[in-house]
Amino acid sequence: MEKFNRSNLQSPATYFKEQGLKLTGGGKWKTALCPFHDDHNPSLRVRLDTGGFKCMACGVRGGDVLAFHMQRYDLGFIAAAKQLGAWRVT
Ligand SMILES: [Zn+2]
Repeated sequence: MEKFNRSNLQSPATYFKEQGLKLTGGGKWKTALCPFHDDHNPSLRVRLDTGGFKCMACGVRGGDVLAFHMQRYDLGFIAAAKQLGAWRVT
């Protein structure tokens, strides 16, 4: 049986760090250079509790690190879940 196991996803803080994002700012939303467009003035806002993200410049957005991974690497849900270790074949 194959299934998605959300609890195996990395924490948003770990994931975004591994993706090379330098997060700054206090509060719920952190700010970073957006990897989805040629960003020179940090436009990407991310939440470390949910992994939600939103770019104020190019408009990319999603609700968790899986959505981020799918969009950044142009992957489908299952392929992204596998890369992130959250797809288990039992
Ligand atoms: Zn952007």
